[in-house]
Amino acid sequence: MSTTASKPVIVVGSGLAGLSAAHEALREGALVRLLDRAPKPGGNSIKASSGINGAGTRFQRALNIPTDDSFYADTVRSAGSRFTENNPPGIDRGSLVEILTSHSENAVNWLADELNVDLSVVAQLGGHSVPRTHRGGGDLPPGAAIVSALLNKMKANPNFTLENSAEVDKLLVENSGAVKGVSYRTSDGQMHELEGPVVFAAGGFAGDVHGLLAKYRPDLAGMPSTNEERPASHGLLSTIGAALVDMDSVQIHPTGFVLPKGAGTSYNIVPLKKEDASHKPADPKSVSTSQLFLAAEALRGEGGILLSGSGERFVNELNTRDVVSSAIMALPQSTDKSMRHWEVILLLDPGACEAAASHIKFYLWKGLVQKVKVRDLAPEIIASIDKYATTVSEHGEDPLGRKSFGHWKLPPGDANREEEVCVGTVTPVVHFTMGGVAFDAKARVLRSTDGGKLTPIPGIWAAGEITGGIHGANRLGGSSLLECAVFGRIAGTEAARSLIVTP
Ligand SMILES: Cc1cc2nc3c(=O)[nH]c(=O)nc-3n(C[C@H](O)[C@H](O)[C@H](O)COP(=O)(O)OP(=O)(O)OC[C@H]3O[C@@H](n4cnc5c(N)ncnc54)[C@H](O)[C@@H]3O)c2cc1C
Repeated sequence: MSTTASKPVIVVGSGLAGLSAAHEALREGALVRLLDRAPKPGGNSIKASSGINGAGTRFQRALNIPTDDSFYADTVRSAGSRFTENNPPGIDRGSLVEILTSHSENAVNWLADELNVDLSVVAQLGGHSVPRTHRGGGDLPPGAAIVSALLNKMKANPNFTLENSAEVDKLLVENSGAVKGVSYRTSDGQMHELEGPVVFAAGGFAGDVHGLLAKYRPDLAGMPSTNEERPASHGLLSTIGAALVDMDSVQIHPTGFVLPKGAGTSYNIVPLKKEDASHKPADPKSVSTSQLFLAAEALRGEGGILLSGSGERFVNELNTRDVVSSAIMALPQSTDKSMRHWEVILLLDPGACEAAASHIKFYLWKGLVQKVKVRDLAPEIIASIDKYATTVSEHGEDPLGRKSFGHWKLPPGDANREEEVCVGTVTPVVHFTMGGVAFDAKARVLRSTDGGKLTPIPGIWAAGEITGGIHGANRLGGSSLLECAVFGRIAGTEAARSLIVTP
């Protein structure tokens, strides 16, 4: 007979990775203490706007995608040469990608069936061979929908305790080197100690501007970010010997919105509208210098195109994020020096606007996107629209290699002049950190031994953006929510099972 000891599973971080771990630990019958230093739960997960990947789902089948066996290959291709790096020695990147991709259908079903999250809309993001990024049809973005569904379900469970404004500042370690718990500080300044197996799900370091980001990627200084500024917690894991991997792999997302409400039009590029020939600079006071709203990749997936300062398409918008960002950053930088940025037009035709309606509604409300009749756009932009629309309508070959046109339906020529398109100005932004703590297929945190091998540290598991080794040089859009769900669930299960005592 086996019994579950009364110690709780301690989960650090209430983003999707931590919530997924907590959910599965509860399912295993464990008590769960979820600690988060932020005053509210959800972390960056709550902001996720494009969706979660799943290969082979019924939602794909409903879109006439009967099978999807290219997710593993797409992930490896996107990871680039990093995928074959044996650094730290012994890291098994292949098995992490295998687990991620082969558990993806199950993760989507879990969220849709057990937690009733609407994931019925499927878009094709950059680097994916087929549409596989799932989100809902309503106004609630996928991150917020998933986080609130999990929280609502678990709050009803008497075995679950969520404590916000509770910052873990140390891992408690046995003489043997095994982790036995955490120490944490609450908002009243009190220190507490808690014993139990630990799931570490404290997120990435894209917001740790003056800490890990500055250390590993000083070249990114001054660039705006989608992450709010916050110190990273990787150091707590380093103190117990956890190995770090790919720390200099930082994802630059190609599209953060530049123009805040009321700033008018673009200024370093062809004027968006005919009458805006004055190139008025935005009021610097109204331009955020650090955190920008993300222009979700789904906007391009649903049919949006990118136009350079001279009004021309210059890149396959559905290439991977690293490729699209590099193409933008090869263009002239903005002359507005309030932050280090570029200015590129993101343009959606009526078909794409409609398909991304819930996003567009929010961006219009924020003043980040405007609706403009084609006839009112600058002639260079109209010429590019006509050229692209001709390719789409004739099912022709795109000179830039784009293969999927999403929901674009705007015809070329005079027939489109009275139609309204959605336009915004975007720049590359620091977005996501691929690197992090080394972990294995059972979500165990790994340390390097003297013999040069990676071995699990007993008592601690990790999941989500704090981990490294899955995405290599470039994460595919939609794969972070997925890694949180897949490895968070594994970590929660494993941590709970470690409490089972067999006499
Ligand atoms: C604007 C935006 C849009 C995105 N859109 C998508 C998308 O559509 N699809 C996708 O797959 N990915 C997307 N991402 C990426 C994805 O949201 C994140 O990578 C993922 O949610 C990270 O989840 P996590 O659980 O690992 O960390 P987080 O959600 O960031 O949660 C970590 C939590 O840990 C807490 N914490 C940290 N240190 C401590 C400590 N010492 N003690 C206690 N608590 C601590 C933090 O307060 C935080 O609440 C997006 C990211 C952003 C910023």
